[in-house]
Amino acid sequence: MSSSNLQISGLGKRYGDFVALAPTHLDVARGEFLTLLGPSGSGKTTLLSLIAGLAQPDEGQVLIDGADVTYGAPYERDIGMVFQNYALFPHMSIEENIAFPLKMRKVPAAEARRRAMEALEMVRLPHVAARLPRELSGGQQQRIALARCMVYRPAIILMDEPLGALDKKLRDQMQLEIKRIHRELGTTIVYVTHDQEEAMTMSDRICLMNGGAIEQLGTPADLYFRPRTLFVADFLGESNLLRGIVDSIDGDTLSVKLERQGVTGLALSNGAPVRAGQQVTLMLRPQNLRISAAGAGGGPSLTGRLLDVMVTGSLTKLYLDPGIADAEPIVVAYPTQRQAEHYAIGQSLSVSWQAADAVAIPE
Ligand code: ATP
Repeated sequence: MSSSNLQISGLGKRYGDFVALAPTHLDVARGEFLTLLGPSGSGKTTLLSLIAGLAQPDEGQVLIDGADVTYGAPYERDIGMVFQNYALFPHMSIEENIAFPLKMRKVPAAEARRRAMEALEMVRLPHVAARLPRELSGGQQQRIALARCMVYRPAIILMDEPLGALDKKLRDQMQLEIKRIHRELGTTIVYVTHDQEEAMTMSDRICLMNGGAIEQLGTPADLYFRPRTLFVADFLGESNLLRGIVDSIDGDTLSVKLERQGVTGLALSNGAPVRAGQQVTLMLRPQNLRISAAGAGGGPSLTGRLLDVMVTGSLTKLYLDPGIADAEPIVVAYPTQRQAEHYAIGQSLSVSWQAADAVAIPE
């Protein structure tokens, strides 16, 4: 038997001529937290709806624990769902809301009550059992929606932007809550968001979608440090993108002559086939760059004049003008320290990196 809890095989969906989801393959392991991430219209909700049975595909299959459920009704699948709008029943108490799925499954009343209270403990809201949904805050209602979904212990929980309606602080708290509950229950979770930070924080793996297809599937670190495409590099946070030509290749390490300043720098391959003479883009995350006063020695480096310094809470960011028309500034980031070295605006600085801190994306 396969250890996949959920298998998507060649699943595709069109609306007329429009391809909302190109034939897609995806295996989700039991207990995995997998996030579908991508810009608006990239097909995340379409894929989730096909898994849930809320829409029917034009081709392909959905298997849950090896059983083909592609054309089965939603309630026949061992799946729970949590949406952005909490969809609680307004006239039922919180306890009745949570017990509802159990009632539908003909669980005896006393047992349903016991399990509803257990689920309320799990989301740390045991004292609100008798209240109505409108007597709770948005964050609390979302926890209840989660409790209502967990109460019948589905094998898979699908969440579509569940924290989208909450403010930033509450979102951060709820992210931790959902992670904790995931750890405690060990349920497989497929989570949809367009927020890359949320995806990075929560997921075992991220499935980054673009134009109705999977652009890259991997751990948050894979996508962040080893993007297969410029789209991935760009979608997952700030980066410096430097074009150049591959000079030589030594195993996994490429030597690249950069357009900027004619400097030759090292980078790791991103796994895609590459040859000497090929055009590539080097991606350097701001926090992987080292900064020093210009001419301080060391390996190959770019130089630039300091345009601006921004302290963004935990990170300090420096913006450097590489002195080339129309070129984007180089961004360097490091942890904000109480007694940071002082750099003057206009000062010339050097930026260097090691091969392991740069990745080459072939064009
Ligand atoms: P968002 O983050 O905005 O929710 P998404 O990645 O979830 O976006 P989907 O909702 O899956 O995107 O939509 C994918 C594409 O399919 C979009 O271009 C959308 O307009 C189109 N689409 C979705 N549902 C329908 C429909 N019922 N009829 C026609 N087109 C649709």
